[in-house]
Amino acid sequence: MYLYNSLTHKKELFVPNHPDVVKMYTCGPTVYHYAHIGNLRSYIMEDVLEKSLRYLGYNVKRVMNITDVGHLASDADTGEDKMLKGAKREHKSVMEIAKYYTDAFFADCEKLNIKRPEVVEPATNCIGEYIHMVQTLLDKGFAYLAGGNVYFDTSKLEKYYVFNDHNEEDLEVGVREGVEEDTNKRNKNDFVLWFTKSKFEDQALKWESPWGTGYPGWHIECSCISMKHLGEDMDIHCGGIDNAFPHHTNEIAQSEAYLGHKWCNYWFHVHHLNTDSGKMSKSKGEFLTVSLLEQKGYDPLAYRLFCLQSHYRRNLVFSWENLDNAAATYEKLIAKIAALDPNDGEVEPQALEGLKERFVSALNGDLNTSLAVTALYDVLKAKTNDATKLAACADFDRVLSLNLLSAAQKVRDAQPEEEHDPEIEAMLQARAEAKKAKNWAEADRIRDELKSRGIEIIDTPQGAKWKRV
Ligand code: AMP
Ligand code: ZN
Repeated sequence: MYLYNSLTHKKELFVPNHPDVVKMYTCGPTVYHYAHIGNLRSYIMEDVLEKSLRYLGYNVKRVMNITDVGHLASDADTGEDKMLKGAKREHKSVMEIAKYYTDAFFADCEKLNIKRPEVVEPATNCIGEYIHMVQTLLDKGFAYLAGGNVYFDTSKLEKYYVFNDHNEEDLEVGVREGVEEDTNKRNKNDFVLWFTKSKFEDQALKWESPWGTGYPGWHIECSCISMKHLGEDMDIHCGGIDNAFPHHTNEIAQSEAYLGHKWCNYWFHVHHLNTDSGKMSKSKGEFLTVSLLEQKGYDPLAYRLFCLQSHYRRNLVFSWENLDNAAATYEKLIAKIAALDPNDGEVEPQALEGLKERFVSALNGDLNTSLAVTALYDVLKAKTNDATKLAACADFDRVLSLNLLSAAQKVRDAQPEEEHDPEIEAMLQARAEAKKAKNWAEADRIRDELKSRGIEIIDTPQGAKWKRV
């Protein structure tokens, strides 16, 4: 498999460090709010990467942290703690907020068929590990104490900006928001390993440490959590492109200073989901969630398909029109698969291998998911029996995770309405028109009215059907 490596700025042949396992780490969510669909784009593409590796025969161990402490409003160590901000907003404790939004995150992942990593570790579980790493960095001369905090000294490194061909905009993400200058820092990009500063007195979660009561910086958690579960080396580290600087740059700095050798070989960065007005971001307040998509009548898997249709290294622009197109494509795709007859012939192994070739080469070419989706269309057009085509769909769905067969079966099972009722059909028509005009309130009102009359609407690729319940 060829993957683009942000560290070398090249597509490289993927060669794992160990023959028996691919070690993969993913920066998890900061659980102070719902994940927006931009965050989830990153997790969808990372899920595709993991599933592709498994599909290609690798055994994968994947670790994800849950950031429930230490991530400040700016990535450059300034501003309020995001978790505390969330707790104040909702008049709850930090741990309540963390639990609620962690559960909400995994519920969204489930709807999007994003597999849960083998290991999920909340940052607050590993305080001992952070203290050990920070102490070692102090002992080795890579860190210093100033104003009560422990800082990493970036001037001690031969090269700090390891991802330096990112455009300026990406590089400045954290710094731009950090208006306050921290006068304790010896160098502009030094970063906090452990906070005790009085400025953060209202920090809810604090732990004893050799440097005073305080809490860890955000970056240290990913280094320690990955080493706790994956050991002193790693194959692939994933995250959104905004994490490349400062977060991943700092992770590499402290990890390699601590270990004294190279830490991670491949860096996989997913580019952003943008709206017309720029990057979708949690801190901007206005953002789209999976629940909102559902409320508007979209199947979350239509959003997954929308993401698969573009390459992970390109920015993707979200608009309702674009999502409508993906939803229509998804419905048509499922309808085509539903039209295949499972009893048409027996699976032909050679034909199946032929169909898989294009799919495999799409994944091997730096995870070209849009070509992989095209390979699925090729299956539907292929000159082979339906049993073989269905086997290929099932096989590709190990990676695409679009519920291709089960959604098709639901369509096959949907009974056509036996009764005709002009009034109900007129209401379904009015609802379809309201949906087309994005008048969600009216569409919901019609659904509710029918429900109150004991009529359930079933949305199918052939349009809405109804039944009495
Ligand atoms: P956070 O919960 O803020 O720590 O972010 C979770 C993940 O989402 C990180 O990997 C971010 O890099 C990624 N991310 C944040 N914003 C976007 C976006 N607009 N598009 C894609 N990924 C994003
Ligand atoms: Zn991280």
